[in-house]
Amino acid sequence: MEKISPMMAQYLKTKEEYSDCILFYRLGDFYEMFFDDALYVSKALELTLTGKDCGMSERAPMCGIPYHAAEVYIQKLVDLGKKVAIAEQLEDPKTAKGLVKRDVIRVVTPGTVISSTGLDETKNNYIMCLFYSGSEYGLAVSDITTGEFLFTVLHTAGELKDELSRFLPTEIIANDFFFMSGVDIKQLAPNSAYSTLPGKMFSDEKCFELLKKHFGVASTSALGGDGMENGLIAAGALLGYLYETQKNEQPQITSIKPYTTGRYMIIDTATRRNLELTQTMREKSKRGTLLWVLDKTCTSMGARLLRKMIEQPLIKTDEIIMRQDAIEELSENFADRDELREYLNPVYDLERLISRICYRAAGPRDIIAFKNSLSMLPAVKGVLSLLHSEELTSCNAQLDDLSDLFDLIDAAINDDPPLLVHDGGIIKDGYSEEVDLLRRSKTEGSSWLSELEEKEREASGIKTLRVRFNKVFGYYFEVTNSFKDMVPDYFERKQTLVGAERYTTPRLKELESTILGADEKLKALEYDLFCGVRQKIAENIIRVQKSAAAVSRIDVYCSLSLVAQRNGYVRPSINDKGVIKIKNGRHPVVEQMLGDGQFIANDVLLDNKNNRINIITGPNMAGKSTFMRQVALITLMAQTGSFVPAQSADICVCDRIFTRVGASDDLSSGQSTFMVEMSEVSNILKNATKNSLIVLDEIGRGTSTYDGMSIAWAVVEYISDPKQIGAKTLFATHYHELTELEGAIPGVVNYCIAVREQGEDIIFLRKIIRGGADKSYGIQAARLAGVPAKVLQRAKELTEQLSDADIAVKTRETESAGSRKKNRFLQDDVEANQLVFSAAVREEDILAELKDLNVSNMTPIDALSMLYKWQNRLKNRV
Ligand code: ATP
Repeated sequence: MEKISPMMAQYLKTKEEYSDCILFYRLGDFYEMFFDDALYVSKALELTLTGKDCGMSERAPMCGIPYHAAEVYIQKLVDLGKKVAIAEQLEDPKTAKGLVKRDVIRVVTPGTVISSTGLDETKNNYIMCLFYSGSEYGLAVSDITTGEFLFTVLHTAGELKDELSRFLPTEIIANDFFFMSGVDIKQLAPNSAYSTLPGKMFSDEKCFELLKKHFGVASTSALGGDGMENGLIAAGALLGYLYETQKNEQPQITSIKPYTTGRYMIIDTATRRNLELTQTMREKSKRGTLLWVLDKTCTSMGARLLRKMIEQPLIKTDEIIMRQDAIEELSENFADRDELREYLNPVYDLERLISRICYRAAGPRDIIAFKNSLSMLPAVKGVLSLLHSEELTSCNAQLDDLSDLFDLIDAAINDDPPLLVHDGGIIKDGYSEEVDLLRRSKTEGSSWLSELEEKEREASGIKTLRVRFNKVFGYYFEVTNSFKDMVPDYFERKQTLVGAERYTTPRLKELESTILGADEKLKALEYDLFCGVRQKIAENIIRVQKSAAAVSRIDVYCSLSLVAQRNGYVRPSINDKGVIKIKNGRHPVVEQMLGDGQFIANDVLLDNKNNRINIITGPNMAGKSTFMRQVALITLMAQTGSFVPAQSADICVCDRIFTRVGASDDLSSGQSTFMVEMSEVSNILKNATKNSLIVLDEIGRGTSTYDGMSIAWAVVEYISDPKQIGAKTLFATHYHELTELEGAIPGVVNYCIAVREQGEDIIFLRKIIRGGADKSYGIQAARLAGVPAKVLQRAKELTEQLSDADIAVKTRETESAGSRKKNRFLQDDVEANQLVFSAAVREEDILAELKDLNVSNMTPIDALSMLYKWQNRLKNRV
């Protein structure tokens, strides 16, 4: 009977426990994978697939990677969404009796990467846990590399979507009920790895116990978040998962914060994407985004905080003003700011370093980087003490200069230590008597060796006799072949080379064991001392995290102040009257792209009364989208506390900004262009309030002109109605007919972007002026884009036909069932041109149309829109 080898039995047992992971199984200097893991990994990472005898008739498929290169391979697998369990040898194979003990020491998952190679230092790496209770979602989220840990509860899938697009977690874990709740996680978080945790991980009792123990509190009410029990369950399950995968008690997670979405402006996924806050729509790059313009931070902690601030603008005026005060003070005292930035420049990522220290993953060079960073803190405090704004004073109060930790490292660790902890050469002379003693014996050992070498050279008469050393053979005498005959009897041969022989003697062996012994002892001792220092720093994690948080705030304010000054931004005033008034505003990103003085500034006025809705018309390429996004971005910037690109700005706090911009297919979720557009519109209509800012860049273009215009019209009516929404809105459209709404609906004002015609060409003036545009200049724009002349010519002819004033009449005259179908294209546009919304509507016309209608040929939708059209015509009749 086949009998499986003991080692393979050990492997299979471990694999059973970690069946959802790829198991890296340490064998000597390699991590090996077997069976399916080997088949998958060899293919995915292009490694050679071999086999291993395992006691069965067939060899087990196997592939391996050297242990020192493991980090890179683990990261590649994690990037593919895999979990990797690392099984180490728990005892020294040299001294182990029988099979070496092995166990998993850590599971690396996409949300629990700690190695710096796998992380973007300017971004958080979040893991999110979702607990669906049947009526609400408990959410907990953590970045284990910084110790951040938050929780909340959400009530709708829409809220969940917004939180997912804000945190962009790389990993999501959830209860199985969540995956049955109808939420399509693949669509909401396409780039996240996700898995289900067993139900027992979500037992409220277990979760609360774990949280209480971890944070040292008697009751969960001390953790805050009244009424957020489901959030706490998610937090407990998340913590449990981290304990289990990381095989430690997550010492870097020192605090937990409940949060409500009510503290920040809500920005939905589409708006985040459309405004290109931190990532461009096409290239998905940082260049070309608001973050790219505002980020002049010196540290990665600052870069991460700034990203967060942009992603969650404030809605409390006093908090905004506090940030503005700090930025203003730094701008007024720019020499202090520049000095601060100089001190911040060499500061490493204290947040992640302290987490690595707690994880015992920090090496000697990390500790030196940590020390060098600490060395800057007293200077930072020195400058801060000269500044008086509330925020900067509070940063100073929060900033501990951690001089005791600096002194500890300075006394203990060499400034230029080796990379690895076991290599020795880490501890500074004078820190430990024992280290000094061992080191001395090492140096004296080398003089003993020289003495012996000299003695044997004289005794034997071999002038070239030398004591040498290598790692495999240790110390030996080397004698070239020409002197071989002179070697004394007591020399024992150790190795033969082509041109020389190597020998040892009893005395040399004795010295070797003393010297090498000292070396090993020294390395072990240095390692212990190093761990002691690292542990002492780890014990101060809360102080370090606080200082790191202060450093990031200071860094962000310095960055915002510098950008404001360089780019000519002003401090916006914040009002509670619902007014957005911007004089000579500029698009923060486009102006940078265009270069000095190229961007044409524009004004805007929106309020809750007579200027609620701006209908913006103008030719293609005139700058409508740019203008509207600029207003949205300036408002958003103002609410992050930043200064804004304008001559002056008075901004009211908006609860939400909505944008519907351009057309994009979402084929992955099975939605057509028009459906994506309509879902975005529907989201806006359902969630906007009178305190929201809405930007609509064309709606209704993905369907027939007629349907599209009706939808656009109805949307404007609905948004402008204070009983329904009454939000401030910028609405760009090519349906010039909508300009008729000015005067008909209170609060609607027309603007257009000026152009000058020059023969066949148009010159874009980029200036927004009162009034509506009368033409689209689409054909000119098409010419600029290189559409063939023949097509342009034909398009021109068709436009002329369509804009012919008589065409409506002609069409009506010739109208019959047959010609109606044939002239569908013309007819649609004609009806649009006819102005369904025109003032001169007669009831007889409508009755006549009703009479002619071939109802049996119509779809229900057609019938409904017809009804809707008639009703509108009657309503808007004068
Ligand atoms: P379409 O109707 O075709 O979507 P649009 O009116 O929305 O066009 P935008 O996309 O806003 O036009 O602008 C087109 C280009 O014009 C921009 O890429 C930008 O380079 C330039 N532009 C827009 N506004 C300005 C401005 N105020 N000053 C200088 N250049 C501008």
